[in-house]
Amino acid sequence: MAEKRKQPFFYVTWLKNYLIGDHLCRWSIWHRIYHQYEEAKSDFNRVQWSMEHATLRNEIQKQLIAEGYHVTPELKIRIAGQVAELRGRLDLVAIREDRNLIIEVKTGKPKEVDKIQLMLYIWALPKTYSKFRGASFDGLIVYKTHQIEISALDVDEIFVKNFKQFTADILSSEPDRKYPTPEECKFCTIGNCDERMDTFEVEEKSDYEPDFF
Ligand code: SF4
Repeated sequence: MAEKRKQPFFYVTWLKNYLIGDHLCRWSIWHRIYHQYEEAKSDFNRVQWSMEHATLRNEIQKQLIAEGYHVTPELKIRIAGQVAELRGRLDLVAIREDRNLIIEVKTGKPKEVDKIQLMLYIWALPKTYSKFRGASFDGLIVYKTHQIEISALDVDEIFVKNFKQFTADILSSEPDRKYPTPEECKFCTIGNCDERMDTFEVEEKSDYEPDFF
């Protein structure tokens, strides 16, 4: 049986897919917030990923320094709430007189949810460090092939309201039932889930003969 955490916490990366409805199994995130758990085996090549990620991050770090920014890698996000702590780790934070940037480096395919992750960092960084209190940060997602900019203005009231609502639901309620789908279970890190689904069982041919197509 999974042990309860003394200090519940959740990462920005755990939240992002739920905020745009890509992930539906809310039991999964609830369980990870409140429990220590055995992780599922994965064939993800972490060494290769780490090397590619560090190479791309170092490249962009050099460029930003050449453009006059003061750059800090790997800054942590820590916001202690009443129930749980929000955590994250920023690839790069770049400060210049005329502009502040948070940079997220992605070695995989671009996804919509990458923007959500960076928007959460834009919201959270000034709340973590007193030296950044009141400061405004734009965002930059760096892919292997291109870059995408996000304005600080994109992190508006509606975004923050949705984020707060989802977080409050997850932290205050009893867990929902599990909602297994092959797409989501494939990437779920919970190792001992008895409802994990590898494939949908679809009958090869339906015996239903519709009269409208
Ligand atoms: S394995 Fe699937 S059903 Fe189980 S917690 Fe993870 S996402 Fe939910």
